Amino acid sequence: MSSPARPTPSRNAAPVRDDGNDIDHAANAIDALRREWRAGFNGRELRQFAVPAVSRLVQLAPSHELEAESRAVLERLHAYDHLTIDRRKLELTQVAEQLKSIQARFAHAASPAAPVGKLNEAVAPGRRAAPTPVKPSIPPAVKQVAPDAPITSLPRVGDAVAKKLAKLGVERVDQLLSLSPRRHIDYSRTVEIGSIVGFSGRQEVTLGGQIVELNEIRTGTPRVTARMADGTGWVRITWFNPWIAKQLTVGDRIAISGMPDEGFGGLSFTNPEWERAGAPSLSTGRLVPIYPLTAGLAQKSVRTLTRAALDATKSTIVDFLPASIRDERKLVDLVTAFEHLHYPSGYAAFEDARRRLGFDRLLLLQLGLLQRRTERKHAAGVAFRPATTAVAGFIHGLPFQLTAAQRRVLDELLADLQRPEPMARLLQGDVGSGKTVVAAAAAIVAHANGAQSAIMAPTEILAEQHSHNFRGLFLGLSGDAAPEVALLTGSTRPKVRKEMLAALAGGEIDVIVGTHALLQPDVQFHRLGFVVIDEQHRFGVRQRAELKLKARGREPHILSMTATPIPRTLNIVLNGDMDVSIIDELPPGRLPIDTRRYAAAERSVAYDLVRQQVAAGHQVFVICPLVDESEVSEMKAATAEAERLRRDVFPRLRIATLHGKMSGREKDRIMTAFRDREFDILVATSVIEVGIDVPNATVMLVEGADRFGLAQLHQFRGRVGRGGSRSYCLLLADETSPDGEARLQLLTETNDGFVLADKDLELRGPGDFIGTRQSGLPEMGWVVHGLDTRLLEEARQAAAQLIATDPELAAGEFALLRDEVAAFWATAPAGASMA
Ligand code: ADP
Ligand code: MG
Repeated sequence: MSSPARPTPSRNAAPVRDDGNDIDHAANAIDALRREWRAGFNGRELRQFAVPAVSRLVQLAPSHELEAESRAVLERLHAYDHLTIDRRKLELTQVAEQLKSIQARFAHAASPAAPVGKLNEAVAPGRRAAPTPVKPSIPPAVKQVAPDAPITSLPRVGDAVAKKLAKLGVERVDQLLSLSPRRHIDYSRTVEIGSIVGFSGRQEVTLGGQIVELNEIRTGTPRVTARMADGTGWVRITWFNPWIAKQLTVGDRIAISGMPDEGFGGLSFTNPEWERAGAPSLSTGRLVPIYPLTAGLAQKSVRTLTRAALDATKSTIVDFLPASIRDERKLVDLVTAFEHLHYPSGYAAFEDARRRLGFDRLLLLQLGLLQRRTERKHAAGVAFRPATTAVAGFIHGLPFQLTAAQRRVLDELLADLQRPEPMARLLQGDVGSGKTVVAAAAAIVAHANGAQSAIMAPTEILAEQHSHNFRGLFLGLSGDAAPEVALLTGSTRPKVRKEMLAALAGGEIDVIVGTHALLQPDVQFHRLGFVVIDEQHRFGVRQRAELKLKARGREPHILSMTATPIPRTLNIVLNGDMDVSIIDELPPGRLPIDTRRYAAAERSVAYDLVRQQVAAGHQVFVICPLVDESEVSEMKAATAEAERLRRDVFPRLRIATLHGKMSGREKDRIMTAFRDREFDILVATSVIEVGIDVPNATVMLVEGADRFGLAQLHQFRGRVGRGGSRSYCLLLADETSPDGEARLQLLTETNDGFVLADKDLELRGPGDFIGTRQSGLPEMGWVVHGLDTRLLEEARQAAAQLIATDPELAAGEFALLRDEVAAFWATAPAGASMA
């Protein structure tokens, strides 16, 4: 985990000397105000000196009241630049007064046992305490720098080191503070060598002992080999670092930490971390940080760097979390959090640090999402009439009964549509759960209210399918009650398109289904009131926002749909600004898909099943193994696999290929041909279009199944079983890890997407779900390593509380937090705030 480490709102270094809490920051600030006056009100002295000093006051405030007051001053200082010169004079006078009062109370709090006389002097009503003179300048122990200062502003950090740090993404001091150690080693707690024999390879251990043999080997790969003994046994050590030979000799006592290998000739370690026994550690405690890949920097150098960064920012880091939140959530302050992230006094302190820093990011994320949501609730939408008769007529005309889940979700939608604020709802439901019907019912409401609906799908074939389905669903309606449906894609002929656009603008088309083609500027509506975005994650944030702009004036109600089951916790992260509805029930009578796992040797059994299904007139998908992220290598893999099947396995069958290097048009052409039964087998990469309906396909064969995530495998599986025939999902994988095997096993056991999604989150972490590029969220690499769901819940609560009491975070107490939210969300892709 990394952490937010945002710089203080003062983007300047404070020349504050601060070896403790006993500096009179208020006096420093007042001094800065004086200089500001003399310098002619240009704001510089305030930005450079007063803001950091007051920030420090905020941090050190002994009471909530003083903290709030200090924050209020800070906010006035931030607003100063916006004042006219005339106003600035008055402002300086008033702020100085306020600071003096704060100063007096600080002094009071700092000396509770002060003699009564002195106390009286400090707090006597009507008598202002004289500002404490600035202390004679003590030479600073460590020069202080702003958290956002370049790394080279730290002592002894030159261009060479800066270059290496840049490779780790560290360019500023705060990024160094956030460089989270991979782990810590407790060199004071070593185990006996004799006790770990037989424990190899599972766990990192720390051992202490004496070097009894040391060789520098220059032939081949330069390395140093050693033996270390502790009386209960000995271990072999290899360091691929000749420099070690200069540092150690036989007889030295050291401690090492690493993963033991037990092989021929006993226990051995390769490149373990080490420390001289009894060496004064850099850490204040006994735990020594081990950093992730350090780009040619020795661990010890990184430690020196983080130590320097911590020391240089002690007085410039400002905690943006108000003490009230910190207290309530039992979170350590930011300076402590950074200190303990690197140099904790114990594991508990380290956990507290991680918890605080993790909380920060989740809170900033949630605050941004909730603010978006609030903004949207204030936008002007159109409250539809319930149109009860029309909806009842529609449902009555369906050839089936809605499932309970469909009914529940429809009710949620209908309630939204009657509200004056625009709906923003995400509808989740497994493939085939019947989302389309529910969306169609909502379109009926729009239609009954004289409003048009737009349905946007990511591919032509999906759009075509939707328009076909919508028309089918509306068949039961007659006359005026039946909406007029049109289909607009990139393939629509110019002449047809022209007429269609005229009809759309004239209000003769009620429901338009289409692809991105709907976003073209000349597509204009008469009165757009309802928007459906199918497979919403396939669209960029901007595209999703664009469609709603087609409704001039009032905002349309928006329903986003996805067949990707997202665990609830992740929904909070990804879609916290939307309401969520879930269809968690399949229509009755569906045959569960028969899922089977085959190993390499059983491949022919799987192929026999393929032949047999094709012979029965059915069709087959083959997903080829995931090679790497590149579409070129995937294309090659798909082409090679198709070739192999054609040549060696199914010479008589008609085989087509589909991959990501094809244009959208080309993919659509292949999919359409496959649907129209021109091929028996479709060999595809993972680009295989989600949501595509080929009811005649009954086999989904996945090669290298262990390389895919559960959620994705489940998506693949959803491509079959859409007709009435028994369908199969065949998972082929040669050798898998225990985790991989567990995942495949799980698929054979359940068809429930939500169960699988939860499990996938547990097994692989949320990384797979979070395609941040499309999601419109800030950069979220930090969440990939593990999402602490309990912490997420806490952050969500805290954010909700904050937004409920102060939606704009306008209070002085929240000024820093507000800046922080803005800075955090500034990393979101463009247009995100429109989503
Ligand atoms: P989704 O979009 O969620 O994958 P669809 O809306 O395309 O699912 O529905 C899949 C199929 O199930 C369609 O053929 C649809 O007509 C049918 N269907 C939907 N709801 C029901 C229901 N309650 N009972 C029976 N069949 C249903
Ligand atoms: Mg669908």
